[in-house]
Amino acid sequence: MEIKKILKDRKLKIALEKAIKSYKSNFERVIEKYPQTIELAREVREIKKRSIDELKDNIKIAMESLEDNGINVHFAKDGREANKLIYDLIDGNTVVKSKSMTSEEIGLRNFLESNGIEVWETDLGEFIIQILNEKPMHVITPAIHLTKDRIVEVLQKEINSSSYKIQEIVDEVRKFMREKFVSARVGITGANVLSAETGSLILIENEGNIRLTSTLPEKHIAIVGVEKIVYGLSDALKVAEVTWRFAGYKMPSYVDIISTPSKTGDVEKVVINGMHGAKEVHVILLDNGRLKAAENDVLKEALYCLRCGACMYECQVYQNLSGYWGENYVGGIGIVWDYITKGLINENVFCCLLCGRCKEICPVNIDCAKINRWLRGVTFPNLNNNQCNERHYNCSVE
Ligand code: SF4
Ligand code: SF4
Repeated sequence: MEIKKILKDRKLKIALEKAIKSYKSNFERVIEKYPQTIELAREVREIKKRSIDELKDNIKIAMESLEDNGINVHFAKDGREANKLIYDLIDGNTVVKSKSMTSEEIGLRNFLESNGIEVWETDLGEFIIQILNEKPMHVITPAIHLTKDRIVEVLQKEINSSSYKIQEIVDEVRKFMREKFVSARVGITGANVLSAETGSLILIENEGNIRLTSTLPEKHIAIVGVEKIVYGLSDALKVAEVTWRFAGYKMPSYVDIISTPSKTGDVEKVVINGMHGAKEVHVILLDNGRLKAAENDVLKEALYCLRCGACMYECQVYQNLSGYWGENYVGGIGIVWDYITKGLINENVFCCLLCGRCKEICPVNIDCAKINRWLRGVTFPNLNNNQCNERHYNCSVE
């Protein structure tokens, strides 16, 4: 969509204003109740820094630990390889899936659908995005750009509901999705953190759909960017806690820790897999530019990102353009991630005001302004300051 049109979109403005206001008051309450989160975030920056500095070793340790736990581990160097690996692992024609920016990055849903697989996004916001055939407009809240009325209209049509009450519609979506959870033989999730030491995936959620996606089908496949690996389990839990607090939650409804396939030892203490949860678990570790970025002194800071989404609520550009600013990833940090994972760079980089507000709120202090300035330099080396300013102006008022 053209920037001029986006800026004139009244409904988008209303939806964003409400979401931002709500996030800010939630976050204030979170920090009031748990002020220690600020100190913990500083510690998490050090954990992430260490993990990225030792990324290659951590990948090796994680692969060994996961295998030792009975989890099948695969390494994908890029999105194409990851999509193919996942497709080859799918039994049957139906897949349930939870929200995952890493899967968006590789275009997983489109790839599977174009190969005849029925994919159901089970997170409510992501389900709305799937129905509309759009992209997630925020890392935590995919349908942030839509008003309640528009969401009701979209869901009514999809699930044949005549209700205008959001609670009733949610109840109907729940019923609708239940059948998909039961019929799917494969569930696909991402992960927020992975502990290399114990081979444990940590997933944060509120809806309960990740639990169902990862346990009801016989096979669970988790697609995990390698930057999500930290060494110790206690470090991983600290990363998770800071992530949900900066996402605006005192506590999420659920924190899932998955370390092995479902198992029972109730018969003569012999381990048998697949009691009630997934019988088979596969972890796809995805590189897709991350290892190269980890070698770059400027870019590697972006790999500390927890995908909490806090920076977007603080950014003046995002507050006007929402997820229309960015390709797969969105906002100022999204410009950097589009570059890391796709080598993609365009006029979007000139939309950043280089104001540094995002760094102030970011739990791990990522300096998006510095990285975006660096990106302008490497990709448009012949532009002088005036030309950069002119491009920035054109981008803002196009
Ligand atoms: S530096 Fe760029 S991304 Fe960060 S808040 Fe300012 S405009 Fe947004
Ligand atoms: S850049 Fe920082 S604030 Fe933004 S999503 Fe990543 S961790 Fe959160």
